[in-house]
Amino acid sequence: MRKSRILTGLGLAAVAMITLAGCNSGSPSAGSGGGGEQTGGDEALWEVATEVDLEGSPTYDRMVERDGVIVGVKNDQPGLGYEDAASGERTGFDVDIARWIAASLGFDEDQIDYVTIPSANREQAIVNGDIDYYVGTYSITDARKQQIDFAGPYFITGQGLLVAADDDSINGPDDLEGKIVCSVTGSTPLQRIRDEYNPGDAVEYDTYSQCVEQLKAGSVDAITTDEAILAGYVALEPDVLKIAGEPFSEERYGVGLEKGDRAMKDYINALFTDGGDVWTALFEQHLAPAGIEAEQPDVEQ
Ligand code: GLU
Repeated sequence: MRKSRILTGLGLAAVAMITLAGCNSGSPSAGSGGGGEQTGGDEALWEVATEVDLEGSPTYDRMVERDGVIVGVKNDQPGLGYEDAASGERTGFDVDIARWIAASLGFDEDQIDYVTIPSANREQAIVNGDIDYYVGTYSITDARKQQIDFAGPYFITGQGLLVAADDDSINGPDDLEGKIVCSVTGSTPLQRIRDEYNPGDAVEYDTYSQCVEQLKAGSVDAITTDEAILAGYVALEPDVLKIAGEPFSEERYGVGLEKGDRAMKDYINALFTDGGDVWTALFEQHLAPAGIEAEQPDVEQ
């Protein structure tokens, strides 16, 4: 079982802050604009495919007909799926995974439409055909598989807790008795904290950044979701926020797909399996600076 681990420490957090700031001011990580090539340093991490061999995928046929891709993403999760409010630039590991998939299917950055979709609305957006695929901290679960399919997993993390930097009273989910914990509607961490633990109260919002505002305002005591998400918020404000305790679940991130599109699932899984170097470069660029440790997982067949 491989999970991401978060290293804490001011040194790392400071490095992460500089890196995140760098991303927002137009580092090579952006990958948006020009030619659909993603660069890691000076080298292109991928090129837009010119010959695509993908038969029998209704999703791909739709993309070709439209001459473009519509991907569902998050916009408030630094390091994973983030949109700079001023420039509109989208950055992060998940966003680049979405770009890499689009490029492998022959679509460059100018042909990608990004739609921000919160956790609670993901399955419906896929079922409705509003998006072609979804990449945004989306855990593979049996319940979700009733409605959609997943490619991947492409990343594994675990549920954790975010608290104020000066709060030593919470060191794990068992310390939430009598405390108010915040999470997101329709997420696996909200479900788990209610089902398996005994918080004083569990309040829900549409997005994790809303929970962060509540925590900073003192109206909740903790936030619970995947550590990879929480680490992104700590990296931005290491003097204000910290991760408390150890991860207590396994969250396996998949690419949300239309149910039954086996051809697309196999195509993306092959991309991940053959693309270890790209995966590593994206991980090093977006997640390692926040102190996250992980290995590329094997995909599920
Ligand atoms: N990975 C969890 C989930 O899919 C939490 C993160 C999120 O809400 O996107 O529910």
